[in-house]
Amino acid sequence: MKKIIGISFLLVFVLSSMTIAQEKRIPAKGLAVYEAGGGFKPYEFTRHAIGDDDILIETMYASICHSDLHHTHQDWGTEIYPMVPGHEIVGKVVKVGKNVTKFKVGDYAGVGCMVNSCGECDYCKAGLEQYCKKVMMTYHGKDWAHGNEITQGGYSNNIVVKDRFAVLVPKNADMKKVAPLLCAGITTYSPLRQSHIKKGDNVAIAGFGGLGHMAVKYAVALGAKVTVFDITEDKRAEAAKMGAIKYVNVNNESELKGMDDSFDFILSTIPAMYNPSMYLKMTKFKGDFAIVGLPAFNNQPTFKVMDFVFCAGRNVYGSQIGGMKETQEMLDYSVTNNIYPEVEIIKANADTVTQAYKNVLAGKVKFRYVIDMSTLK
Ligand SMILES: [Zn+2]
Ligand SMILES: [Zn+2]
Repeated sequence: MKKIIGISFLLVFVLSSMTIAQEKRIPAKGLAVYEAGGGFKPYEFTRHAIGDDDILIETMYASICHSDLHHTHQDWGTEIYPMVPGHEIVGKVVKVGKNVTKFKVGDYAGVGCMVNSCGECDYCKAGLEQYCKKVMMTYHGKDWAHGNEITQGGYSNNIVVKDRFAVLVPKNADMKKVAPLLCAGITTYSPLRQSHIKKGDNVAIAGFGGLGHMAVKYAVALGAKVTVFDITEDKRAEAAKMGAIKYVNVNNESELKGMDDSFDFILSTIPAMYNPSMYLKMTKFKGDFAIVGLPAFNNQPTFKVMDFVFCAGRNVYGSQIGGMKETQEMLDYSVTNNIYPEVEIIKANADTVTQAYKNVLAGKVKFRYVIDMSTLK
C-alpha cells in the first residue's frame, strides 16, 4: 500500500512538473514553408521556455536573405519542414531570464544566423562562435539544449534566444533597416576588417545584391576606391550613388579588359554560378580574395589548381558571418556612421512573402525585402 501511495505521489509530481514545463512554453505564430520550394502558409507553434540566460523578443522586422531561399529550396542539403525562415531579426525585448544583465525589458535586440554554441571550444573562446562545431542555427537547427527540437526563425511574432546571441540595438537606430545588418551587414563587414581595408585601397565587390551593396557602403566608408561587378545594367546608377567609382557589367567583355592585377581586395558575394578564377587574376600580388557568397551545392563554381600556382602570392579565403563580439561592433559602427541597407518593406502575409521569394529568385529585388512582422495576422 505504502509503495502504491509512493508511486502515485511520484506520478502526480512528475505529471504536474511536466505540465508546468509545458505551460512555460511560449506560443508563437509565423509564416512557414511546408515542403522544399513550396510557398508560405501561416504556422502556429511553440518555443521553449525562457531560461535564466534567455530573452524573449517580440519581432518587429525580419528580412529576406538569399540564403533563406537556399534553405527553403533545399539547395544546401536535407531540411526539415515546416520551416520558419528568418535570420535577420530585430525586435523589442519583452522578458528577460534572471541571469540576464545585458538587456532589460524595453531594449531593442537583434538576432542573426546563430542562437547558441558550446561556449568552450577554441572558436568560442576566440569570439568566433560561427565556426563552433556545436553552433546552433537560428532556424533549421537542432536545439541540443532543448531535446533536439528544431529551431524556427524570425518570420514569426517572437523569438527566445540566449542573451549572448543577441546584440543590443541602440535606441536611435533606424529599426526598419536594422535587420539586414545581422547577416548581410556582418558577413561583408567582417572580411573587410580581416583584410584591414583602409583609405585608398583598391577594392572590388562582386555581386551587387543584399550582401554586395552593404560591402560597397562599408568599403566606401573605410575610404577605399570601390569597383562593383554585376551582370545587369539596372544597378549602374545605384552603385555610383553609393560611392563606387566604377561599375563593371561582367556580361560586356570589353569592360573586363585590362583589369588583371588591379585590386588589393576582392569580395565575392555571388550566390550563383560564376568564374572565380577571373577574380583571382584581378587580385594584386599580396592582395586578398575573400569569398562569402555560397551558391547551391549542385551548382558550385570551381578553381583550377593552375590558377593558384599562376596567381601565386594572392591570398584566397572564405568567411562566414562574424562572431558575436564583431557583430555588436558592426552594428554600433553602422548606426554611428548611418550605414544601412536599401530596403523595401513588405507585409507579413503568406502570399506577399511567397511573391517576394519569387522576385528574389528572379533577381527582381533591388537589395533587401524587410518583412514588417507587426502586420502578421
Ligand atoms: Zn543571410
Ligand atoms: Zn564552441
